[in-house]
Amino acid sequence: MTDVRVRIAPSPTGPVHVGTAYQALFDWVWARQNEGQFVLRIEDTDQARSHEKYEEQLVQSLRWLGLAWDEGPDVGGPYGPYRQSERLSIYAEHAAKLVASGHAYPCFCTSERLAALRAEQQERRERVGYDGHCRGLAASEVEAKMQAGCAHVIRLEMPKEGACIVEDMLRGPISLQWGHIDDQVLVKSDGFPTYHLAVVVDDHLMRISHVIRGEEWITSTPKHLMLYEAFGWPRPTYMHLPLLLNPDGSKMSKRRNPTSVEYYRRAGYVPQALLNYLALMAHPPIGEEKFTLEQLTEHFDPAKINLGGSIFDIDKLGWLNGRYLREDRTPEALLAELKGWLLNDEYVGQMLPFMRQRLETLGDFVPRVAFFFARQVEPKAEDLVPKKREAAEVARMLQTVVWALDEVVEWDKDGVAEAVRRVAAHWAWPVRAVTVPLIVALTGERVGPPLFESAALLGPELTRMRLLDAMKALGGLSKKQASRLEKDWRR
Ligand code: GLU
Repeated sequence: MTDVRVRIAPSPTGPVHVGTAYQALFDWVWARQNEGQFVLRIEDTDQARSHEKYEEQLVQSLRWLGLAWDEGPDVGGPYGPYRQSERLSIYAEHAAKLVASGHAYPCFCTSERLAALRAEQQERRERVGYDGHCRGLAASEVEAKMQAGCAHVIRLEMPKEGACIVEDMLRGPISLQWGHIDDQVLVKSDGFPTYHLAVVVDDHLMRISHVIRGEEWITSTPKHLMLYEAFGWPRPTYMHLPLLLNPDGSKMSKRRNPTSVEYYRRAGYVPQALLNYLALMAHPPIGEEKFTLEQLTEHFDPAKINLGGSIFDIDKLGWLNGRYLREDRTPEALLAELKGWLLNDEYVGQMLPFMRQRLETLGDFVPRVAFFFARQVEPKAEDLVPKKREAAEVARMLQTVVWALDEVVEWDKDGVAEAVRRVAAHWAWPVRAVTVPLIVALTGERVGPPLFESAALLGPELTRMRLLDAMKALGGLSKKQASRLEKDWRR
């Protein structure tokens, strides 16, 4: 086999999803098994949604898991830079090559034209997509529009007929119709590359041999293959991993389940158990269900991957985690683990400024701060509903708190307070009508330490999950109710 080089290419646009860890795990194992290299590349070309903060979290979460990479923005390497925002001139140069060779073309269609086209296609019940309007523009016309400074994108010419065969290492050949794939935009009107151009250019220049990623990318692969062909580059080998699923069989989402790696760390899962569980999502047990990264590296066999997709069952993960705590840790090791987790001066120290006033004896301390360490609290429905309010409206209000908090990038007491004020204004409720149920949701009790400080210290992940649990205690929201509410909220 040629040198094995794999990469994880996350976008730093939110908390690190367990799906990212799951991919990183198989990248890591494949690289180790083949004595290859594992690269971390940051796909931050979406300027509006990318944040440095999320990149920092990404590095922290992956390091906590113990999946070290050989090259990346923080450790360097021979094929850098490893952050796409630092590679813009490389993409521009490659896009220009494709235009010059006739594989790509500038498209001047306005968003109004595209909207009208979409409406017509919907009306005629045709496939919705770009009609290739700017494909045939004469060179002089293009020149004139460029001179006039008309806004444009660059599109890739896709074949209209026949089938594209995606060779997937796990599934064999997959046939997809070219006719169903639009002339893909490669460069946006602001000059930034799209994911499709950047991923291919980078995977090639970084000499990636195996692209291991989620199944949801299969339908994009023909666009990538077309680009490899247009550039005259060899294709990498693709390994599309099965999806992680919610208990109802849909793609795992944070609507109901905790999906971020940081949630699992904060809730007290250990990295070995989380990785073991993620491995079981695609790979059969090795002897038994509990196995180490080393065992997986030794026995991993792509042919054994279960392609059906697996339900992420948090109870089963909890069971496995318990085994790691019981079977692999002496009491001394467990104590060290607890200290490294949250039972330490740093975390406890942050509670003292606001707990100092609230103690009669030292013995009051631990019971009052227990919720800062708990995996879950159990608020009572009647405590969550302030006087003269109804359970259903409080559940709806809590859902909007979840959305408001999802937008807080700098998670501190001011960020939380601002989100709470937005929610109160949205509902035209007094702030107290929002904060009272929130305290109960976060602490499980009717009285607790100050809300904003508590939420700040609890962190976004546990806060979010506790709000969802509280909503559940109030009877929850149906999907339909939630989507109606969301429209209203985002207006
Ligand atoms: N940036 C993409 C993501 O966030 C990478 C997909 C790929 O691995 O090609 O999932």
